[in-house]
Amino acid sequence: MLRGLTQSLAPIAVCLALTACSKTIAQHAGRMPTTWYAGGPTCNGRPAFRIHEYRPGFFILRQPACTNYEKPFLYLLIGKTRALLLDTGAGGIAVAEPVDSILGAWRASHGGAPRELVVAHSHGHGDHVAGDAQFRNRTGVTLVEKDTASVREFFGFRAWPADIVSLDLGDRVLDVIAIPGHEPAGLAFYDRATAVLLTGDTFYPGRLYVRDTAAFATSTARLVAFTATRPVSAILGTHIEQARTPFTDYPVGTQDQPDEDRLELSRAELVTLDSAVQAMRGRFTRTRLPRFTVWPK
Ligand SMILES: [Zn+2]
Repeated sequence: MLRGLTQSLAPIAVCLALTACSKTIAQHAGRMPTTWYAGGPTCNGRPAFRIHEYRPGFFILRQPACTNYEKPFLYLLIGKTRALLLDTGAGGIAVAEPVDSILGAWRASHGGAPRELVVAHSHGHGDHVAGDAQFRNRTGVTLVEKDTASVREFFGFRAWPADIVSLDLGDRVLDVIAIPGHEPAGLAFYDRATAVLLTGDTFYPGRLYVRDTAAFATSTARLVAFTATRPVSAILGTHIEQARTPFTDYPVGTQDQPDEDRLELSRAELVTLDSAVQAMRGRFTRTRLPRFTVWPK
């Protein structure tokens, strides 16, 4: 899983023309597994996160289905001075352990770097913050608490949610975009090194629960505007609830999803989401699209 660690984390330039975009996407996109199958309801032995290295320093962790039907995805991004763990899972499993082992292996081959681990969240819902206690008050770890005030202060937002701020992990810069609507403290992260946009529960192959319709519409528009002038190799959220068959999602609470959809979404699909949302003009209705459903709560 730690193949190709020596490849550089060179940041990519903003692309201003479509041809430049496709070139940079090809240069920076990583590889995905053919399936993210997370197992059935029964744990065989000790449950473990599935770990995949998308690109050097970009790790995707998936919680096994037997520990929680939500089976969320977590992301660990490593720079020269800091690493960022995005989310701590839905509970019922040791999450600090695999993170420690990835970072331990990385440090062994990178002269001890990074020294600090930042633990933050895509948003504050229970299935993404349940492992926070495993990181709180640990030496070398900065835990950003899940509330909006803590998020604003740590990332340096002055105007919330309009500001777009950045987080420098050391030769790896992330743009941080506030996307309230699903949850008030929601964030998206754009990794310039891979051109991946991380969108949490705001955009993934499944049920996109909208709690604040006005905020959600502003957030999808903000994501579309942000990605209009940058390459996007993949958009990755924090669940898969969709089956491979278009317009079909697994019922809430399904643990075993042998035929689930792929994780990655495209910018074209983000534009489709935003168009559907803007067309509702504040009066949201449940709207099924091939790979996701807009689902007002
Ligand atoms: Zn979630």
